[in-house]
Amino acid sequence: MHVETLGHGRPEYTLVACVHGDETCGWHAFNRLKAADLSIRRPLKFVLANERAFKLGVRYCDIDLNRAWPGQADSALHEERLAARLRHEVEGTTVLDIHSTESRGCPFAIVTGADAASLRLARSTGLDRVVDMSWLGGGVTASTEGVAVECGYHDDEDAATMAHRIALNFLAAEGVIDGRAVRSTPTVYRVTGEERGAGFRFVGENFRRVRQGEVFARRDGTPRRADDDFYPVLMSTHGYADRIGFRAERVGTVTDAIAG
Ligand SMILES: [Zn+2]
Repeated sequence: MHVETLGHGRPEYTLVACVHGDETCGWHAFNRLKAADLSIRRPLKFVLANERAFKLGVRYCDIDLNRAWPGQADSALHEERLAARLRHEVEGTTVLDIHSTESRGCPFAIVTGADAASLRLARSTGLDRVVDMSWLGGGVTASTEGVAVECGYHDDEDAATMAHRIALNFLAAEGVIDGRAVRSTPTVYRVTGEERGAGFRFVGENFRRVRQGEVFARRDGTPRRADDDFYPVLMSTHGYADRIGFRAERVGTVTDAIAG
């Protein structure tokens, strides 16, 4: 784990990159922020989470860090030890956790629980969609206030550019740096389950409703049909070893979600 602080004093905010070591866009975004002469109003911490996996160019060494939560300091597994250290590092700060993905349909925000504080942070990303992933649990934002963002396709230059743009907007909206920011009113989706299976080709489109009986994936020419209506989230052909992706329902806009 690599940690840096910008500004002086005790950081209230943390940018987290490389929870998954091969998702480098957050690292590039941070380097661009550092290179630009920002006017910093509140101290900010930067954490390159899975530095070992990052250097190896892999998603993780032993297990997925998001699934290693809350971690264990004396574990034999690298990511379980790391989760315990990372949890301590971000404690008491507000987190922007930056990711990229194998799936299409980015950018969007992810929260763990559609509580008012999380949704307020989702608005500060400036993005149009937010997914409540409480169904899956775990992750950095499960133990501290924060929001994650999926910026784009893995290692794509556009993902790094998007990560930089989102980070700038988020930090300005939260008053961490000077600058103009958009506070969006995103549509809220809630993950309700997953579609398991290996070797499927996803033929739908993320965030576009799949109707009951509709074909959304194929394997060796055999169609996989939806049991019920759902919105695909993080569905892809190669994203996961044993999962096509997640099923979600559309809750409404952030204001509906807070009112509900
Ligand atoms: Zn990720």
